[in-house]
Amino acid sequence: MERVVKRNPGEPEFHQAVHEVLESLRPVIAKHPEYVTSGVLERIVEPERQVIFRVPWVNDAGEMVVNRGFRVQFNSAIGPYKGGLRFHPSVYLGIIKFLGFEQIFKNSLTGLPMGGGKGGSDFDPRGKSEGEIMRFCQSFMTELYRHIGPDTDVPAGDIGVGGREIGYLFGQYKRIVNAFEGVLTGKGISWGGSLARPEATGYGTAYFAEEMLASRGESFEGKTVTISGYGNVGTYLIEKVNQLGGKVVTIADEYGYVYDPDGIKDEKLNFLMDLWTVYRRPAQDYAREFGLQWVEGRSPWEVPCDIAVPTATQNELSLADAQRLVSNGCICVAEGANMPCTADAVNYFLEKSVLFGPAKAVNAGGVAVSGLEMSQNSMRFAWTFAEVDERLKGIMKDIYRKSSEAAKEYGLGENLVAGANIAGFIKVADAMMAQGVV
Ligand code: NDP
Repeated sequence: MERVVKRNPGEPEFHQAVHEVLESLRPVIAKHPEYVTSGVLERIVEPERQVIFRVPWVNDAGEMVVNRGFRVQFNSAIGPYKGGLRFHPSVYLGIIKFLGFEQIFKNSLTGLPMGGGKGGSDFDPRGKSEGEIMRFCQSFMTELYRHIGPDTDVPAGDIGVGGREIGYLFGQYKRIVNAFEGVLTGKGISWGGSLARPEATGYGTAYFAEEMLASRGESFEGKTVTISGYGNVGTYLIEKVNQLGGKVVTIADEYGYVYDPDGIKDEKLNFLMDLWTVYRRPAQDYAREFGLQWVEGRSPWEVPCDIAVPTATQNELSLADAQRLVSNGCICVAEGANMPCTADAVNYFLEKSVLFGPAKAVNAGGVAVSGLEMSQNSMRFAWTFAEVDERLKGIMKDIYRKSSEAAKEYGLGENLVAGANIAGFIKVADAMMAQGVV
């Protein structure tokens, strides 16, 4: 860990992600010292390749703007690099490395042949016109295309990158390489996308939480749920929670939150579906539209709930938030976003025996269906929505089973954080050992 901090200065999110995994691996290393002697640990924390590039584009005012693009190809031991692209002003190398590192274990847990990678840019999509977003995406792909390919690296969406952006990126890739191939996932249905990919992360999060709740004889029925982000993950999570008999009462952004005690459903959910995903509008617009309470500058985790699902971004739920949730009677926390709980918040939930689902297990449904999209592209064939949803459900149950079995095998009780890290790690580590020092 000391070496990681020294070799990667100024990247606290990356240190946080590595620290959690290495801590979880203590009992594995004690039993299997070969993972240390073969250098697997040294290698797994070092990306195989990191690309940083200039993204110049022209805005509507005719001015030239320069953003920075990233692609970190972290680990290809079990398949081509796979992981999303994030467009957000907070993006820098440390964020992309933390996400790429997490992606290695998440992808392994899905049981599908995908390595780990992640990319993005410090471009801010808020307030940009269609034309500006298209020109930015085209410029981004004009460099990225030479580093990716259907058998090399297959990016997807993440914060600020949804179906529209994937369309512009795919169009530019196809134009440059003159090949229609499955180089991105999250594509539109008429041009190679998989049914149920937009729903996959939100639905998968709900399926995983259902498994956790069932382990204590509970379910979503009649439960109050609080969430934060109302983008791709948040909106489809709400849809599935409603189907499972629960009620989601908050959404939030970095400026505050909306409290909707009757639950977000029907025409309110229809309105919310497009609010961020299509219009990139603030959460307060939802409060204004339906005459609801807007709570400025505070976090949704102060609202009493049975289940909390952070769905926005890293480190959005602090120790103080965790203490508030527990004292208000919250029984289950599922990380819909990537690393949304600070390390001390996670430890607090574990100490208090709250059912706690870590991101790399909980939100793996998105990349799992991306994996299914790759398979469908290779077969030049498409499964129905029900077939994909059924496979997704099976994969989420399997991830829960693997994570809880690994925790038990290493004497860690119900600790799914350690269980997911261990189960994800062993498959990749064994593949790395089999492939020699590469
Ligand atoms: P979207 O861009 O669709 O939505 C992001 C949501 O989070 C928006 O509501 C946005 O609102 C909010 N948000 C973003 N940054 C911040 C911030 N700094 N503070 C508070 N709110 C913020 O992204 P996704 O739904 O795709 O992603 C959400 C999370 O889920 C991310 O952590 C992502 O890595 C993770 N994830 C996504 C997957 C996918 O398939 N899409 C797969 C697995 C994980 P606003 O910007 O207005 O604040």
